[in-house]
Amino acid sequence: MDKLSKVKGIGPKSELLLNKIGIYTIDDLVTHFPFRYDVLERTDIRTIDDPNQKIVIDGKVESVPLIIRFKGGLNKLNFRLYTTYGSVGVSIFGRAFLKKNLPVGENIIVIGKYDKSKNILNASDIRFGDLSCKKIEPVYHLTSGITSKNLHTFINLGLLTYGKEVYDYIPDYLLDKYDYSNKKTCLNIIHNPDNLTKLEEVKERLKYEELFVFMSKINYLKTLNKKNIGIERKIDLKILDKLYKLIPFTLTEDQDKVLKEIIDDLNAPKMMNRLLQGDVGSGKTIVSIAAMYFNKLSGYQSALMAPTEILATQHYNNIKKLIGEKLEVRLLIGSLSKKEKLKIYEELETGLVDIVIGTHALIQEDVKYFNLGLVVTDEQHRFGVNQRANLKNKGITPDVLYMSATPIPRTFALTIYGDMDISIIKEMPKGRLPVKTLVKSDEEIPEVLDLMYKELQEKHQIYVIAPLIEGDEESELTSVNDLRDKMNLAFGTKYKIEVLHGKMPNNLKDDIMFKFKENKINILISTTVIEVGVDVPNASMMVIFDANRFGLSTLHQLRGRVGRSDKQSYCILISDSDTKRLEIMESTNDGFKISEEDFKLRGSGDLFGTKQSGDMEFKIASIRKDYDLLLKAREDSLEYLEDEKYDKDKLKQELLSEILDS
Ligand code: ADP
Ligand code: MG
Repeated sequence: MDKLSKVKGIGPKSELLLNKIGIYTIDDLVTHFPFRYDVLERTDIRTIDDPNQKIVIDGKVESVPLIIRFKGGLNKLNFRLYTTYGSVGVSIFGRAFLKKNLPVGENIIVIGKYDKSKNILNASDIRFGDLSCKKIEPVYHLTSGITSKNLHTFINLGLLTYGKEVYDYIPDYLLDKYDYSNKKTCLNIIHNPDNLTKLEEVKERLKYEELFVFMSKINYLKTLNKKNIGIERKIDLKILDKLYKLIPFTLTEDQDKVLKEIIDDLNAPKMMNRLLQGDVGSGKTIVSIAAMYFNKLSGYQSALMAPTEILATQHYNNIKKLIGEKLEVRLLIGSLSKKEKLKIYEELETGLVDIVIGTHALIQEDVKYFNLGLVVTDEQHRFGVNQRANLKNKGITPDVLYMSATPIPRTFALTIYGDMDISIIKEMPKGRLPVKTLVKSDEEIPEVLDLMYKELQEKHQIYVIAPLIEGDEESELTSVNDLRDKMNLAFGTKYKIEVLHGKMPNNLKDDIMFKFKENKINILISTTVIEVGVDVPNASMMVIFDANRFGLSTLHQLRGRVGRSDKQSYCILISDSDTKRLEIMESTNDGFKISEEDFKLRGSGDLFGTKQSGDMEFKIASIRKDYDLLLKAREDSLEYLEDEKYDKDKLKQELLSEILDS
């Protein structure tokens, strides 16, 4: 991909700014799509009676602008403007610098409010040009130091440079079929539209391309999987009875059912490629442990990959406790010394180790296995499509089990996980009381502290969540560090309070998590790093500050950290705004319903929680909103991949190599 520095007009300084919003290549730049458009259309100001209504009007500067200066550096510019509706006075604050650009006769557009009684426009913005026809202005996501206009200029420069090598992933025959314009034209239009109908057409085409690429990857994986001959085992399910004796509970019917599906796959000669879906707290972990235990008894090694080291450590401790005496279990994480790591590598290669647990480095680095038979990835939504293929490129074809707590409806799951079989756990372990959720305002915080105190007296533990690690002056958001001080004031004399966040070194994080699990910490104040998977059944309350800052799906994942025992648990959402949305959390504990509601309220938004992996995040398409288009792209990409007559070189080169090499 071409570097930004190749674009004439983008220097090193601008490049750094663009990097801040995730733009590194020319391709990133020209596909940084506007998130909305401002449509400027001339208002008939004669009909405006409300002096607070926003209006847009164009005209010619009629008099030389007069600068009025006030104390404290404030200034005001006054001039007359000749419009279609006659001459009006214009007044704007803080734009004295514009005077030289406003000679008499200049065509300008004024945005502001119109005071009919005084025939004055109180302007908030002035642009150049006229509104003889509607003007459509793109609005972009920005970072400080860069304006929408600057960014727009950069993008247009990028388009000039990009011109020659724009690669269109939609094959020609499909472009013809749908009468889609060529890509370069589309990119030009989406950044510089002059017609709303055409804009919609172009957007659809760009969405289609994105979905086509996505579905091609998935469909290609599917064809790869079909060819994969896996390990055939011939072991009876009964062998697991030994394991059941070690578990302090009986499996739910759903857990039994999905485990049976997994064991059938393991026994079958084809390679398993299965997604295990189940809401937070539904008990997926034990199912995977049973699968790994079964795998060991059939003579193979297992690897369990978690998205974070905290989670990996937690799984390790659980597994160690359950079956550590019967099996050789190892934890492979970054904080180990080189020597310790080398030892584990060796034990994996010689076949001494039965189960190894770690992050996805387990597969990415040059770890050699004696006979890896099963790979489990926890919290699949944090890994991307590219990683799905990864496992199959080490000259081994282990069976693969993906686990995900993402509550997406089955039809969607079938499409976006189309290369996998799906098992679902619907039912929660028995005896669980639904978490009670309460929305509270800032004013009610003293009441919340009372509730916290009651839980602490019961010897229960509490999570407190804030959106930021450290506060800054500009932001009114609560930070973890603020809360530490406040919580210490309130409870510090009697209770142990600790802080956890993503910027801490891993060994410190693990240490704190471990202490919390051991009930040596009463209140854990954290950012969303604890969002995924952490399991401390004695924690019965979660208090989330500035709850309005989080998507409902994220809140649901967070809330899933409590309610993991037979105790009544509570989730308290503190917010002064957006309470209607938050009240949905009060009304249901069902992850599927919440993601639906989230969708209705926020558009495509947070369907998968915020920490979606890169390649499931779309730049312009939305799996939900553009579902029909996604289905179309699925069909088309299947046909395209299967039919010999289509040349797939470019697609393979660009996409599949990405899958195969990553
Ligand atoms: P998740 O599906 O979110 O990963 P976990 O596997 O962490 O959920 O399980 C949540 C909690 O429920 C754990 O403490 C686990 O030990 C417990 N659990 C799992 N299955 C059962 C069951 N059948 N009966 C009772 N408790 C269970
Ligand atoms: Mg889990």
